[in-house]
Amino acid sequence: MPRLRLRFNSQPRPTIELTDTPDPKCLVCDGYGGWPEDYGHPETGEYAGTEWWDCTCWNPNRVRRLLPLPRWFARRAYDWGPPVYSDEPPF
Ligand SMILES: [Zn+2]
Repeated sequence: MPRLRLRFNSQPRPTIELTDTPDPKCLVCDGYGGWPEDYGHPETGEYAGTEWWDCTCWNPNRVRRLLPLPRWFARRAYDWGPPVYSDEPPF
């Protein structure tokens, strides 16, 4: 059962999105949604980098754009408070 979460996104234009989130009680990823795993070069076996594996308990690419918001609504949303999950500073 995916846990969907509303997210306010101001770029490129104001929208409310529905995103999937990791299972906070997931026994595999402990709620982190994934884990880093080092991998080596196929021939030399030397360290070649770290790959991030997404856990199967969520799908980070599953984002549903719900509705575009008119600009007056976006301004009012800023009045209610800074948007969550945005690295944009509040205007
Ligand atoms: Zn998980």
